[in-house]
Amino acid sequence: QTNYLNLSLQPEDPIFKLLGECEADQVVDKINLSVGAYRDSSGKPWVLPVVKKAKAILLNDPSASHEYSPLEGNKCFNEHAVKLVLGVNSIAITEKRYSTVQAVSGTGANRLAAEFLAKFKPATVYISNPTWGNHSKIFTAAGLSVLEYEYWNPKMRSLNYEVLLDTLNEAPIGSIFVLHACAHNPTGIDPTQAQWKKIAAIMKSKAQFPFFDCAYQGFASGDLDKDAWAVRHFVEQGFDMLIAQSFSKNFGLYSERVGCLTGIFSSTELAKKAKSQFCALIRCSISNAPGFGAKIVEIVLSDEKMHAEWVANLKTMASRISLMREKLVDNLRQLQTPGDWSHITSQVGMFSYTGLNTVQVAAIKGKFHVYMTDEGRVSMAGLNEGNIASDDLGIKKI
Ligand code: PLP
Repeated sequence: QTNYLNLSLQPEDPIFKLLGECEADQVVDKINLSVGAYRDSSGKPWVLPVVKKAKAILLNDPSASHEYSPLEGNKCFNEHAVKLVLGVNSIAITEKRYSTVQAVSGTGANRLAAEFLAKFKPATVYISNPTWGNHSKIFTAAGLSVLEYEYWNPKMRSLNYEVLLDTLNEAPIGSIFVLHACAHNPTGIDPTQAQWKKIAAIMKSKAQFPFFDCAYQGFASGDLDKDAWAVRHFVEQGFDMLIAQSFSKNFGLYSERVGCLTGIFSSTELAKKAKSQFCALIRCSISNAPGFGAKIVEIVLSDEKMHAEWVANLKTMASRISLMREKLVDNLRQLQTPGDWSHITSQVGMFSYTGLNTVQVAAIKGKFHVYMTDEGRVSMAGLNEGNIASDDLGIKKI
């Protein structure tokens, strides 16, 4: 039979491949530091206590149904989400210059943004090097051309700030820049507020278009407002911009696909038109975003007490990760492991970009069954009191 579909086998996604390898590993004390999902102090997935409560409320709500949402999704969820990232007193909100639509989590919000930009602002998209593995795939799939800006300085294990500024200056006017709102994936390094100000100033002078990917609000500092500082600064500078939000991590709702896309524009009129275009794109892709997870977030954010409880749950996650950073560095120092490991504690969010190279990563996996990505990114949430001892990690022998 002729191969009329002319299919070739697509290589497996590296993260899911690694996860599969780890799952197949029969060694009992293997350590999975690959996937970006929170684990509690016993290494188990954590359903946030406040999410459990919201689920119980929803289950007992006699008015709850499984009706279709409108194309824009759950409006009440959208309103809460946009206030969370912009702040309740944001000028974009009071001047009604925004439009928010529900999306299939952060990935879906990125894809929707990419489709929108491909149609209405088909400029080159600059993504950080390195970045979340899906960025280049999503923007390329939408038909946009993608280039990189340097972000990581491997020698200093820090932000490659000067080179980043050079790229902002040298990129053609009107280019799109994908920026991580906080807790940069994979490096765990965010620009300081002073650095963000400079980045915004250059972008403004070159009419560059910011697209903020906000997948970890609350995970960088444990403080939702602090983590949204960069986005809010850009709004104050009067940019037209897009913001993708994910509630996978900060609500632990990974499989429920809760997220949204917000556009900020110079006028209410433009915002209204943009919403109609978002909805048109939604109609021919997903028609309606999923209801359950967004409803859970809506229940929590609509109630002052539950909102406060969520913030406390979020702090539990952020603090445990931060503690693991300290313990890991303590262990490395006690063992007199060559090198300066201070970058692990100065990095924030779910990930640490260790600086370990591919050969070291492979050796650690082969000898000690510790799984991290090829470029040495570890999900700090995979560490806990039970597996961080030097023998568990094999770091004594590195
Ligand atoms: N953006 C970044 C930077 C991420 O790291 C992730 C997830 O790892 C996402 C977006 C999307 O996550 P989700 O689709 O689960 O919300």
